[in-house]
This record gives sequence, C-alpha cells and structure tokens, in this order.
Amino acid sequence: MIIPRNLLLASLPTTEWIELQPLLEHVQLRKRQVLEEPRTGIQYVYFIEHGLAAVQARTQAEGPHGVGLLGRFSMTGLPLVLGTERSPLRVVVQTGGEAYRLKASDAEAFFKHDTALRRLALRYIQVRMVHAAHLALCNARHPVEHRVRRWLLLALELLGEDEICVSHATIAGHLGMRRPSVSEHVKRLEKAGLVSQGVACITVHNRTELELGVCECHRLVWAEYRRLQNG
Ligand SMILES: [Zn+2]
Repeated sequence: MIIPRNLLLASLPTTEWIELQPLLEHVQLRKRQVLEEPRTGIQYVYFIEHGLAAVQARTQAEGPHGVGLLGRFSMTGLPLVLGTERSPLRVVVQTGGEAYRLKASDAEAFFKHDTALRRLALRYIQVRMVHAAHLALCNARHPVEHRVRRWLLLALELLGEDEICVSHATIAGHLGMRRPSVSEHVKRLEKAGLVSQGVACITVHNRTELELGVCECHRLVWAEYRRLQNG
C-alpha cells in the first residue's frame, strides 16, 4: 500500500485511504503553476506531497499578497468543503513539487457525506483560520526580524527539509515587506551562522537558534498543525 507524504492523506483511516486512492492522480507541481484562480470554478483538490504553494489575495493597486502558505500538511479546494465551487483567492506554486490531485466532482462526493476526509478537511479549515488570525496579529505587532524567522520556520515544517528554494522577493510578498529588508535580515541570520544562502536557496543549519529568536506566533500556529496529525 502506498503511504502518502501529505499528512492529511496519511491521517485518513486505512479503509477510506483505500477507497480514495484509485481516484487520486499523482502530479508534478511546476513553479508558478496556478492551482486556484479567483472567481473560477475549482477543477481539482490538491494534496501537496512536496513543495510550497502560496495562497494570495490581491488588489489592482498593490498586486498579490501572500495570506497563507501550503505544504505537506495542506490541501487546496477548501471552498468545495464549504459548498462553494469557486475560490475567492489565488493559489500558486512557489517551488517545484509533487501532489495528489482529486477531481472536484469526486471530492464533492466525499464532502457531501460524513466521511473521514470531510471531518479532516473541516479541522484543517479551522487550523487555516487560526493561522490567518495569527498572521494578521504577527504582521501588525511583531518586529520584522521575528516575522522573517517565523516564515522560514513554517516553510521548513511544511517542506519537511532544511533547504528552502524561494527568492527573497517571494518571502517579501508573504510578509508585506520590501525585498531589501528581507535580504538584510536573512544576511544577519547568515552572519550568525543560522542559515547559508546559495544561488536560489536558503539552507537552515541551526533550527533551534532560529526558534529561540522567533515570536510566540510560530509555536501557537504550529501546535494547531500538529494537532491535525495527532487527531
Ligand atoms: Zn509573531
């Protein structure tokens, strides 16, 4: 039996995983691939196996702004769980990766009944609500240095590895900051020996030290994701 890396799929009872498996298609995710477009019907629900995707809100004046980050603990298609066929937000892949995808019509059949997938998806929506609330609090109240550390730590957890291959501009887009400000703070972390930077990736060498200098938001949000896994 295939064991999924996506923690939501991995949390399903074996009977329902066996039922769901033939309906899932394993796909590669390309950088900048759009998984959901605002005001457009959702075609697939994606369960991310590897990689990062951003949930973005946008205005005409300011362009896209990251309001959520998805990875191996995540799924798309939340409007379908809530009985809506269109997404209000954009979901776009940030790093290459892999996912299982489920046709929207098949997903709706699971979400209409009291299935384990529906119960898990509802709990996941609750986690995303808590995450969004703390994101708003953190961006309004906490220093830039803490926010950069928080973003890096969440990306590490969602990727399940120590290398994060995104640009400083991408991180800035999530934090509502200017790119030079992100670069300055990443450079400070590099000088302190906590991270190193390659051409396109940031590698974290000392997660413990990174956690010591982050605000409370990371621990609070991450505890919610962990609870999903533990039931
Ligand atoms: Zn914070």
